Amino acid sequence: MGLFSKDIRSMDDLFVHGLQDIYYAENQILNSLPNMIDKAASRELKKGLQTHLGETRKQVQRLEQVFRMHGQEAQGASCPAIDGILEEADDIMGEVEDQNVLDAAMIAAAQAVEHYEITRYGALIAWARELGRGDCAAVLRQNLAEEKATDKKLTVMAKKRVNPAAERRTRTAAGRVRKGSSSAAHTGRPKPRRTAKKPRPRDRRKK
Ligand code: FE
Ligand code: FE
Ligand code: FE
Repeated sequence: MGLFSKDIRSMDDLFVHGLQDIYYAENQILNSLPNMIDKAASRELKKGLQTHLGETRKQVQRLEQVFRMHGQEAQGASCPAIDGILEEADDIMGEVEDQNVLDAAMIAAAQAVEHYEITRYGALIAWARELGRGDCAAVLRQNLAEEKATDKKLTVMAKKRVNPAAERRTRTAAGRVRKGSSSAAHTGRPKPRRTAKKPRPRDRRKK
């Protein structure tokens, strides 16, 4: 964005900016998915993420196609939203001990990514249609369909298998803790984390 002038003056500019935003986001997702695939324990989750990695590569190509169709050079514009979502995913993945609970956390993190993509593609498709670019909308709709399908698959995976498995596993683990510790015996639950993360500087300023 320019410092002295506003670069987005028309719906067409807004559409191009939206394309650049999601192009950047998809490329960041491409960089992050291999780490998630690596850390997933459930074979189903690993496979699902792998499939989506392949789809994401194709999505980037489709975006490049839309840029071309619109007479624009494919380029990204930094997206702090996807950076934040991916950073949070990374944080939580580093904090979960149990492998099954980690899978549950990763599914939720992956769904946050899908939901961001769904909002962006939704807006881009509406704008493309408004601009009389039904051809661009049709290509973008293919990406949107894949994001929605991935989101649904993740929901089923979480509800039917991954969340119940994580709950069962850690309930057993909590039972083991109960035998050895009097304070955990009262609730039958693991003790809450003793240390909370320090608030970030911005949060501190608000107080
Ligand atoms: Fe995508
Ligand atoms: Fe963005
Ligand atoms: Fe996606």
